[in-house]
Amino acid sequence: MAIERTFSMIKPDATARNLTGKIVAKLEDAGLRVVASKRIHMSLAQAEAFYAVHKGRPFYEELTKQMSAGPVVVQVLEGENAILKNREVMGATNPANAAEGTIRKEFALSIGENSAHGSDAPETAAEEIAFWFSKTEIVG
Ligand code: ADP
Ligand code: MG
Repeated sequence: MAIERTFSMIKPDATARNLTGKIVAKLEDAGLRVVASKRIHMSLAQAEAFYAVHKGRPFYEELTKQMSAGPVVVQVLEGENAILKNREVMGATNPANAAEGTIRKEFALSIGENSAHGSDAPETAAEEIAFWFSKTEIVG
């Protein structure tokens, strides 16, 4: 299996509740390595650009407001099958459907405030990593 990189974000609802370490522990326990990490407070314009793929969806405005309402931790994760593995550790978008032991099952407040973001495919992983990180900030 190939070593991949994916983009992960700990959302404002989780940083507000001091859950950064607990979320990173779940990712590391699954075999993913944090090869880049920084805490930022994105602007509304940055949130709108990052989530541009969802523009026009009914939750877009609420989502971009929430994502710019407080600090997030943006990360690059590396490991075997990292994109899918991160999605598995995160769990389903709606915490009501998330499997036991997943980040969203344990920590999410709602479908919107669901504690974590993870890229869904190799193309989006590459785009999302490049959106937040320069090459020199990623140290494998
Ligand atoms: P995921 O984060 O699991 O990849 P999506 O890409 O479909 O999910 O949606 C991006 C984010 O938008 C979700 O993580 C969630 O915060 C928010 N979202 C998605 N669907 C809804 C919804 N029906 N109502 C409110 N917020 C939503
Ligand atoms: Mg998504």
